[in-house]
Amino acid sequence: MTIHRIADLLRTGQPDQSINIQGWIRTKRELKEFTFAEVNDGSSLASLQVVINQDVPNYAEVVRKLNTGASVEVSGVLVPSLGKGQRIELKADAIAVHGEADPETYPLQKKRHSFEFLRTIGHLRSRTNTLGAVFRVRNACAHAVHQFFQQRGFLWVHTPLITASDCEGAGELFTITSLNLKDLPRTENQEIDFSQDFFGKRAYLTVSGQLEAEIMATAFTNVYTFGPTFRAENSNTSRHLAEFWMIEPEMAFCALDGNMTLAEEFLKFVFKAVLETCPEDMEFFNQRIDNSVLETANHIIDSEFERITYTEAIALLEKADRTFEFPVSWGLDLQSEHERYLAEELFKKPLIVTDYPTEIKAFYMRLNDDEKTVRAMDILVPKIGEIVGGSQREERLDVLERRIKAAGMPIEELWWYLDLRRYGTVPHSGFGLGFERLIQFMTGMTNIRDVIPFPRFPQSAEF
Ligand code: ATP
Ligand code: MN
Repeated sequence: MTIHRIADLLRTGQPDQSINIQGWIRTKRELKEFTFAEVNDGSSLASLQVVINQDVPNYAEVVRKLNTGASVEVSGVLVPSLGKGQRIELKADAIAVHGEADPETYPLQKKRHSFEFLRTIGHLRSRTNTLGAVFRVRNACAHAVHQFFQQRGFLWVHTPLITASDCEGAGELFTITSLNLKDLPRTENQEIDFSQDFFGKRAYLTVSGQLEAEIMATAFTNVYTFGPTFRAENSNTSRHLAEFWMIEPEMAFCALDGNMTLAEEFLKFVFKAVLETCPEDMEFFNQRIDNSVLETANHIIDSEFERITYTEAIALLEKADRTFEFPVSWGLDLQSEHERYLAEELFKKPLIVTDYPTEIKAFYMRLNDDEKTVRAMDILVPKIGEIVGGSQREERLDVLERRIKAAGMPIEELWWYLDLRRYGTVPHSGFGLGFERLIQFMTGMTNIRDVIPFPRFPQSAEF
């Protein structure tokens, strides 16, 4: 027996067509002569309306069981719908109830629930309209990410989740260990002896695949990563997760301009793809979550991103008619209040800020001739602030060695990274983009915990 997807039926189903559907009851409306039920299978925001007449086998018993949340299989014939809101509906011939859902205890009744509450029922919240829409958009966007890079000949490279190098995110790393926590081996100076650990040294969950992506770019020219990353940051914000997905393209023979152009084309591409794939879900976000979602999306697609240097950005912030919590001066790491002021209020569109002070950026970013700034670029967007962080990488061996030493990093451990500059070095660039930040931006969802199915954040690793 063929099972039809409700999304397909709503789009192309024809009257008189015999069909079978499976799904979960959203609502039931009992009238004297017959009963309406809305069935949703997750394939679309809209449910299929099912009309159940009294001649359906076991009518009374079946209808009694059709409570919100119950799982059903319905066969019948499509008919034109007389009600408004839908083109067609399903006239049921037979209904099988797989699993009931007790209305006394099933938490998802018809009223609106807060997102905070929904997070406490992470095993059920995907059955709601909003979370359903989020995860369909997330899927469409992930698909578009691969399409974008694959169409351009980028190789998808799988960088390790376990790493022994702690060069990037000092302080934000999760250690992983198989040592016996009840009886930790100690060195002479009473430190934990990680040489006895699984990998023979201390290992962590990765905070970024960039350094490994650079390895791969010097073999395949253009590569990208798309996978999970982990940060033990204790920032309990609406924009930080402990486990999130990152997209990191890396391009050989590419300077900062090419990098910025790629990032801009990338954002345009994925927004366009999601609007085309999930028009109803995007319309829903615009109506119910944030009424600027569609405008913003079209803005991204149609407008050219503004490009300014960090020094120019500081000048603009100093002229701003307001006081910021973090006072503005050259050398300051832009905080989200500054980023949002620039993107949201001043330019009212995405902007790319380049050439940040050397001190506030990573050691691998290419040093400018002024030696005070590096070839970094951040893309700032309204509502979110920074969404993309990237740079041209330092390809000169001597400069890189100098920067590593100045940063106080263990240069011996980076021997392989330096080798990339020793053998066939090349100007190269890349950026990192937090996938959840992108989904947040697309959907207008205010909390990042509601755009990933199973969020991990301080004090919470449920479900
Ligand atoms: P922020 O200042 O917002 O903490 P960051 O400077 O630590 O960001 P990067 O190290 O440049 O960020 O990481 C690349 C991208 O990953 C960021 O632009 C952002 O989109 C995303 N990102 C960073 N940290 C997180 C997090 N904890 N949760 C979700 N996304 C994140
Ligand atoms: Mn951070």
